Amino acid sequence: MSLSKIIWDDINTVIFDMDGTLLDLHFDHQVWSHLLPAKLAKKNDIDILSAKKIIEDLLEQNKKTLNWYSLTYWSKALGLSLAGVENELDSLICLRNGAQPLLERLNQSGLTLTLATNAALKSMNRKLEITGIRKYFHHICNAHEIGYCKEEMPFWTKLSKDTECKFENTILIDDNLDVLETARICGIKNTFGIARPNSHHEEKKSSEFYLIENLDDIKPNED
Ligand SMILES: [Mg+2]
Repeated sequence: MSLSKIIWDDINTVIFDMDGTLLDLHFDHQVWSHLLPAKLAKKNDIDILSAKKIIEDLLEQNKKTLNWYSLTYWSKALGLSLAGVENELDSLICLRNGAQPLLERLNQSGLTLTLATNAALKSMNRKLEITGIRKYFHHICNAHEIGYCKEEMPFWTKLSKDTECKFENTILIDDNLDVLETARICGIKNTFGIARPNSHHEEKKSSEFYLIENLDDIKPNED
């Protein structure tokens, strides 16, 4: 479904993911693909490729679970402070083009805005402080507080109950296609991905989901 097919009169809630949807994924990519392997290589006295392999194997083992997103898990597994690594690069944390005007626009339209994120609480809070977008949200649903990640169905059951959200009147925008798939199974029909979550990478393609190229194209109640 494309953006122009949205019947805005039927929509009362927009759920946003944070990293790669509202925020540029460049920061997370630099943390996970560059600084973290470099720190691990130095600490364990191994080369960078071996360090990357250790991280990739653990990522694979923990795919679609809360651990994948948990700073505590990673700090323990690697013997490094993940929060410390994030601190070092926090000047790279920034909003994607069009994110702030979009949140502003949706707020003014009287829609309920919900942030649904798998990010660790510490990372989420840091990012919300730096970007100043917390004020736009009526609800903040964090996977670590809910107890399930967004790739798991109970996350959505709990979100719907906690925020009194009716999925037939809801739009979800998330750059993670596995998350969109789970949410769709749970009943959210209006699901959209993001074409370029990382401003330094190429556009993604999907045959399953419409990927938004430009956040400026989301315009409620404009006939
Ligand atoms: Mg994301």
